[in-house]
Amino acid sequence: MKLLEYQAHVLFEEYGLPSSSGDVASSVAELASISAGISTFPVVVKAQVQTGGRGKAGGVQLAANAEELKSKGETILGLTIKDLKVEKVFITPAVEIAKEMYLSIIMDRKTKCPVLIFSAEGGIDINDIADRHPEKIVKLEIMPDQGIQSYHAKYIADYSGIPELAGQIEDVLKKLYTLFSEKNCMLAEINPLVVKKDGNLACLDGKIDVDDSSLFKHEQFRVWRDEGETNPLILEAREFRFTYIPVEDAGNIAVISNGSGMLMSSIDLISAAGHSVCSVLDLGGGATAERIKEAVRIMLKNPKVKLLFINIFGGITRCDEVARGVLEATQDGHTPEQFVLRLEGTNKAEGIEIASGIDIPVAFADDLVDGVAKIDERMKA
Ligand code: ADP
Ligand code: MG
Repeated sequence: MKLLEYQAHVLFEEYGLPSSSGDVASSVAELASISAGISTFPVVVKAQVQTGGRGKAGGVQLAANAEELKSKGETILGLTIKDLKVEKVFITPAVEIAKEMYLSIIMDRKTKCPVLIFSAEGGIDINDIADRHPEKIVKLEIMPDQGIQSYHAKYIADYSGIPELAGQIEDVLKKLYTLFSEKNCMLAEINPLVVKKDGNLACLDGKIDVDDSSLFKHEQFRVWRDEGETNPLILEAREFRFTYIPVEDAGNIAVISNGSGMLMSSIDLISAAGHSVCSVLDLGGGATAERIKEAVRIMLKNPKVKLLFINIFGGITRCDEVARGVLEATQDGHTPEQFVLRLEGTNKAEGIEIASGIDIPVAFADDLVDGVAKIDERMKA
């Protein structure tokens, strides 16, 4: 999960990194009330979208007074940057910059450990620097059992010709590494990390990518994730630990399955047969009848659904649990117009027996290909 810049600043502050907090506005009215409360200008107004290059796209602007803050904020709120509509702006004090540098820690799959990347030249795309001046980038592997040591900072500062900053760099490295480890990051980047005119460092932009598998540990991230989500069915599905994915607006087939591979192959084959999927739901592993019932209910909330295809390859997920959940859902009145059910794997026979008690017509399929043939038949019926 990628965080927005203002969320990265919240973490920077939590870990004592030199970063300024600010205000977030998502409407012109909010901009007005924020600007009335600001006494020190200039400030910077920054588009909150998950992409770099906001500066170049006009998404980062200096405002000298309250009027400018409102007008520039409104302009930025109307922008679309790299296909992402700007829904929020971040307002933060303008910093007098003497030098822009780059710092990140990534989880490196090749070396299988965190790698620290530093360049005394930052602010612009690090890939540009890597292409033109690879010698200006320092990369250091961090041994997880040792963490950041003074020599890391001393090496970086000496190599980059800024030995006077070694102390401050050490402080930033240690705090960023603690954040990276404790928050289960895949990436924690500060670009630019600036030297201010007064000689102190400041983090002016943050990009943080958190390991999705760790979200269960971090309430704060789950709240941010849900705040950024506007589709109520995605949110409702999350309450039951399901992944709900809208597919095609014009589609009318909903698919429930256990695993993303199964879902993708279902979408592919249904599309190849000339039909269109509107939504899919991934049950994950080991869903109980109670949760299956909720999954069916959630999928049928979309009025466009004409046919429901449940495609289960039961391993940890048991076919009898699935069938019981589907049976209960239909008894509660959650019935699709057309229904195709494929049950394979653990407790298949029990599952089919339970499902045969369902009081609406069900087309039973032997495998995915047969399932798609039955879908084709039913959609033409
Ligand atoms: P992006 O990386 O998406 O372009 P940044 O937040 O890095 O966005 O901003 C782009 C540039 O704007 C920075 O390199 C810096 O020069 C300037 N900038 C960003 N935040 C501030 C700030 N608080 N004060 C002064 N200048 C800033
Ligand atoms: Mg940046």
